[in-house]
Amino acid sequence: MSEHHFPVIAIIGGSLGGLLAASACAPYADRVVVIEHDDLPDHPTHRRGTPQARHAHGLLMSGLGALESLLPGCAADMVAHGALCDGDMGRTGQWWIGGGMLAPTDVGERGVCASRLLLEHTVRERIRELPTVDLMDCAEVTGLTGSASRVTGVRVARRGDGPPTDISADLVIDASGRLGRTERWLADLGCAPIDHDIVSCGIRYATTHIQARTSDLDGQVYVVVAATPEKPFGAAAIRQEDGTWTITMGSYNDDPLPQDIAGIHAFTARLGVPAIDELLGRELLHPLTNFRFPESRRRMFHGPDLPTGYLPIGDAISSFNPMFGQGMSAAALEAVALRSVLQAGAADIEADYLTQANVIVDRAWSLVALADRAIPGVADARVPRSEQLRYGYSRRVQRVAHSDPDVSRTLLLVTSLVEPVDVLLAPRIVCKALGWRTHRAPRSSAGAVATAGRL
Ligand SMILES: Cc1cc2nc3c(=O)[nH]c(=O)nc-3n(C[C@H](O)[C@H](O)[C@H](O)COP(=O)(O)OP(=O)(O)OC[C@H]3O[C@@H](n4cnc5c(N)ncnc54)[C@H](O)[C@@H]3O)c2cc1C
Repeated sequence: MSEHHFPVIAIIGGSLGGLLAASACAPYADRVVVIEHDDLPDHPTHRRGTPQARHAHGLLMSGLGALESLLPGCAADMVAHGALCDGDMGRTGQWWIGGGMLAPTDVGERGVCASRLLLEHTVRERIRELPTVDLMDCAEVTGLTGSASRVTGVRVARRGDGPPTDISADLVIDASGRLGRTERWLADLGCAPIDHDIVSCGIRYATTHIQARTSDLDGQVYVVVAATPEKPFGAAAIRQEDGTWTITMGSYNDDPLPQDIAGIHAFTARLGVPAIDELLGRELLHPLTNFRFPESRRRMFHGPDLPTGYLPIGDAISSFNPMFGQGMSAAALEAVALRSVLQAGAADIEADYLTQANVIVDRAWSLVALADRAIPGVADARVPRSEQLRYGYSRRVQRVAHSDPDVSRTLLLVTSLVEPVDVLLAPRIVCKALGWRTHRAPRSSAGAVATAGRL
């Protein structure tokens, strides 16, 4: 099959999901038009459509790999603007998962520490250079055109430019995010309602910045502290390109977060992570900025239920509890999947893409939903009976990872969406997690069967 080529592809939303979709589509269309509600700045700054950008944003290893595959050199561009990208992801920061710090390890991948603003700006500037891509800002998509069986374009209202007009497109990619009007647009075409999977986690975020010092944390550049059922709150501190640390505290069940110094000290005492204690003990550069994320929400898209010519990406498919830092990476991996479907000239683009996208989302969602449902107080909190064994096992893996670099490495590759969760069932990991000894055949016994790794 030869690759696809379309006259026009329209993308709704110019945040990371939309921009990365544009990079994937650019070689396969005469024109890719990205329609974004906000005024898109030419420098890294805040905008209304992405309020989350004020909070710590970590890019997982899988996300950085996908980003570099789509737009090679992005990490170097960010480093040129002051981002930090030095050393192995298993050593350049601290990962506190399951109530302890993972053993430092080599994962063989680098990371990049940058603000969400710089990340989006870097990607946006690279997209502006693509000759087939047109970034149409200050323009709001008000609906889809076509029918329940075929989407033919989008209806667009441009700010201060009269009534909405239609843009015809052979493919419409919905990157309108968590708050996009996807359900309404599809319902208006007569499509069947979309099912959802929801975990009502009631996440609160409170973020501040402090000045960084070169001596901080012996040169480590991030600290990630995941919540546990025993301590349903966490934190992330990430060194930024402007010489500050972004520090975000997070809680479940709408538990209020501290807003003053005394409250912060009480929070860090409960958290029990010296690095966060040290950083938050410093003068805050601004009062805390708050964010509420009521629920993780996954739209269950299936090819046959969707009109031809319509594809969702990024948070429009699944908006994950941000404490797991998966959203940007999932969007980047989906964009790579989109590119591969277009490149392969797949006969059924929608079905092929959604099959791949659902694998990516399943991998991320299964980690988040299981961990969230184990937190007491989360609505519907209960690890389903069918999942209890898996959950109990994952807690054992986490505990062993606090002291074993091999288990720590494997766990990091899984939580970073590089490897599927099944790699945690490799015999050597199972043995370590369950405390079983491996028996080696005596070297001297001729013809002995090698038993290393046997249960
Ligand atoms: C508090 C918080 C912290 C997070 N932390 C992390 C993290 O550490 N790591 C990570 O990987 N991810 C994180 N995420 C998720 C991450 O921000 C998203 O996954 C990422 O932005 C990709 O989203 P998106 O482009 O699909 O949607 P969004 O970022 O929500 O963007 C949607 C875009 O569409 C535009 N739009 C919407 N409707 C219309 C319309 N009708 N017409 C035109 N334009 C429209 C909006 O203006 C916006 O620009 C976090 C999210 C939150 C809420």
